[in-house]
Amino acid sequence: MTTTLINPVTAEAFTEVPSATEAETDAAIERAHEAFLGWRALAPGERARLLRAFAAVVDAHNEELAQLEVTNAGHTIGNARWEAGNVRDCLNYYSAAPERLFGRQIPVPGGVDLTFHEPLGVVGVIVPWNFPMPIAGWGFAPALAAGNAVVLKPAEITPLTAIRIGELALEAGLPAGVLTVIPGKGSVVGQRFVTHPLVRKVCFTGSTEVGRQIMAGCADQVKKVTLELGGKSANIVFADTDVAAAAASAPYAVFDNAGQDCCARSRILVERTAYDEFVGRLETAVQALRVKDPAAEDSEMGPMVSAGQRASVQRYLDGATVAFSGSAPEGPGWWLPPMVVESHDTAEPIWREEVFGPVVAVMPFDDEEHAVALANDSDYGLSGSIFTADLGRGLRVARGVEAGNLSVNSHSSVRYWTPFGGYKQSGLGRELGPDAPFAFTEEKNVFIAH
Ligand code: NAD
Repeated sequence: MTTTLINPVTAEAFTEVPSATEAETDAAIERAHEAFLGWRALAPGERARLLRAFAAVVDAHNEELAQLEVTNAGHTIGNARWEAGNVRDCLNYYSAAPERLFGRQIPVPGGVDLTFHEPLGVVGVIVPWNFPMPIAGWGFAPALAAGNAVVLKPAEITPLTAIRIGELALEAGLPAGVLTVIPGKGSVVGQRFVTHPLVRKVCFTGSTEVGRQIMAGCADQVKKVTLELGGKSANIVFADTDVAAAAASAPYAVFDNAGQDCCARSRILVERTAYDEFVGRLETAVQALRVKDPAAEDSEMGPMVSAGQRASVQRYLDGATVAFSGSAPEGPGWWLPPMVVESHDTAEPIWREEVFGPVVAVMPFDDEEHAVALANDSDYGLSGSIFTADLGRGLRVARGVEAGNLSVNSHSSVRYWTPFGGYKQSGLGRELGPDAPFAFTEEKNVFIAH
């Protein structure tokens, strides 16, 4: 069986990729387990050296990987180069971990007590289509550093960069089976990661709906699980901020990757006294956004990833009033313009649900307490931004918003060296940051009697 890949810009099929069967998945997991036994036994410094070599090979193929992502997923070339660079950076960062997986020596009577961080075995990483390269790297880099073998399933429609990265791992000298990319269906390959007893942890990024099923499935074997799920993040703009600058930056915080971003600030809350000015300036900024061929160096937004995703976004627009929108190319491809909706009711699906497309809803608030209440009135809690000239307020609101990744006077969410993850139905566990390798280990306690 194969999956046909379609270029989101031309809407034309351009290649076929095999989909693994359940038997092929089982065989790959068994080979990964064999490889794990050797990988675990390597000296920490040797594992570190191989991860640095892997980073260097990824770096040498940055342009090739970036071009693949433009063709496969419609990412802008600028973003795609950053994404391949992020895989390199994660590998370099976690290549410092093997020699630093410290345990502790705990005072006890009658002997010595030591703790060790032992690798889990085979880790299954399941990746969505919206950021195929970074999300793969956030899983495999710390997992490999901690001494695990990884089986990785890319999304059905965006497998090309992951497949290439799997080849580059071998080119860099990683032993066969230490990182295995298995393209295929979620219901076959992904599901087998959940049910196969040799897979000791599932690291899932994707929709909240599938995440719930994965968690329930992992319960059968009390299997460890990390979930990075959906979001409906708030961008909170206070009247004391530089309103022009806040309005100029807001489109990039939601329309980047055509809004197909779990951290998209898809709800903008604006203090009522600044609302009209903000919305006026936002219109200018949205209309200036360069929505064009993602291969063009100056493109700021490309098409949706697929016809299905575009149709799903369009369903949210039925019955909604778009206040204003930007531009999008005519012709083939899964294009949508960036769109702004003024919301008046927090029950509206466009305000509550993750649209996962270039649509942002704006609503006024009265004071700080009201802003925090509105931001927290969501099943999700992934990211958020706060714009204010009052640093005390910035910190208070950042502490008050129930989300894992907040930024004050900035829209940044993700750095590979700081922790990332969601509150509530946005996820379970944390990725990235200095502690990520420990999430791929068991802590073992050993007592030695004097
Ligand atoms: P999805 O849940 O449909 O699929 C994600 C992955 O899971 C794919 O590889 C898919 O094949 C696989 N899958 C599907 N059904 C499965 C099953 N029954 N068992 C095992 N695996 C299965 O999500 P998507 O549409 O590819 O991605 C978009 C979603 O991902 C959005 O909700 C977005 O917010 C979320 N996301 C979250 C983060 C984060 O870090 N929190 C990052 C990126 C994307």
